[in-house]
Amino acid sequence: MSDKKTIKTRFAPSPTGYMHIGNLRTALYSYLLSKSQGGKFILRIEDTDQERLVEGAVDVIIDTLKMTGIDYDEGPGVGGENGPYIQSQRKEIYMEYAKKLIDSGHAYYCFCTAERLQALHDDNSFGGYDRHCRDLPKEEVEKNLAQGKPFVIRQKMPLEGKTSYVDEVYGEVEMDNSELQDQILIKADGFPTYNFCHVIDDYLMGVTHVVRGNEYLTSTPKYCLLYDAFGWERPKYVHLPLLMGKDAEGNVSKLSKRHGAVSFQDLVNTGYLPEAIVNYIALLGWSPKDSTEEFFTMEELKKAFTMDMLSKSPSVFDYDKLKWFNSEYIKKLSDEDYEKKVLPILAEICPDNIDTKKLAGLLKTRIATFHEIKEKVDFILERLPMESDLYTNKKNKTTPEVCKVILEECLPILEGISNWSNDDLFAALKQYSADSERKAGAVMWAVRIAVARLAVTPGGATELMEVLGKDESIDRIKQAISEL
Ligand code: GLU
Repeated sequence: MSDKKTIKTRFAPSPTGYMHIGNLRTALYSYLLSKSQGGKFILRIEDTDQERLVEGAVDVIIDTLKMTGIDYDEGPGVGGENGPYIQSQRKEIYMEYAKKLIDSGHAYYCFCTAERLQALHDDNSFGGYDRHCRDLPKEEVEKNLAQGKPFVIRQKMPLEGKTSYVDEVYGEVEMDNSELQDQILIKADGFPTYNFCHVIDDYLMGVTHVVRGNEYLTSTPKYCLLYDAFGWERPKYVHLPLLMGKDAEGNVSKLSKRHGAVSFQDLVNTGYLPEAIVNYIALLGWSPKDSTEEFFTMEELKKAFTMDMLSKSPSVFDYDKLKWFNSEYIKKLSDEDYEKKVLPILAEICPDNIDTKKLAGLLKTRIATFHEIKEKVDFILERLPMESDLYTNKKNKTTPEVCKVILEECLPILEGISNWSNDDLFAALKQYSADSERKAGAVMWAVRIAVARLAVTPGGATELMEVLGKDESIDRIKQAISEL
């Protein structure tokens, strides 16, 4: 029989109402670690902090995972043999296991009142809970329970020795047991703390690798002691470094709102594609082995991911790089998928005379996010003020005077065109350039500036005229002539 256990990982978010990019990266790595080895992946909702509940927050998590293609084998909505997967629905289970720990001498009831704890806290020499109830006589405990005195359950930490474990990313982590607080496992409201219930769930759900943010790196010895107390095999731990952001002054700190959009939803709402976001964040702390490849679909990530290529140095989230990824992903979209996203945006901002399908085509290689569309097509929606300097172009040897003549000569030709298409327009202007012995570049320059009133445009003169339609194009040229 093979002793190789099937890998099982999980993503265990607290429902905060939004998906921080750092959390999404944790979900992704946890998923990839399992899927790269044919394992299973669980979604578990950690909602035992009842004061922090946010309505609709679980849907945000589930929707995000769906949109990013991180599909889970067990979890809310999917089911599985280890459910329920929402911790608030597992309250009795935790109590049962806390009592087992009390029976085996690894936990105890604590009846200290809020006032007593506050007084302890106010004392300057506060060094954590003073273990007042740790050794209460059995009879006293029973009497208190019989009287219905409120209690919490605390973990009884060893007072001496050390506890250590080997993290897959950071290596050995060791703590003196004397530094470990007798932490609360079950709160006064009967709900477990994160510190307790995630251990119980990870065990009961068969999790082999715990992948999470490194804020838990140094509290993990406490969790290891819980596994030991139950006599359970500890899982492997894979703590991930923080995601950082850089501000305008170049200072680096934990990625937060002041650096830009930090939730998956906000990024999507500002015009980023889920595939681009996933691809980019996959590289923020992991790199492929023996390869400099940067583009990965989810299927490719599943094949390429290896745990030994995780980095322990924090990565800086670079919005420009994400933008670049996004522009590349936009270019890769099929015309159908691309139009599905872009046409509704254009339909909302463009007047009826604009050929939005053609315009969409012009934009495809020229936008980095869908949010840029409005600003990129502003010159089409309204005529910008003309700056006559724009007619001057050294390479094409154009000046406002030359352009005026070109426009005057082209106007009747354009008016005579019945099939207003890019091809016919292009052919007509080429013909004019040959007949008039003017450089084609100069002709195109004059016409493009006249219709766009902008130096840099998505598309050339005839493409833009096709999008604008005949009436609007002719009108703009006439206006340009009169202004010159
Ligand atoms: N609910 C915890 C959090 O969101 C999960 C930590 C863990 O994965 O164990 O930080």
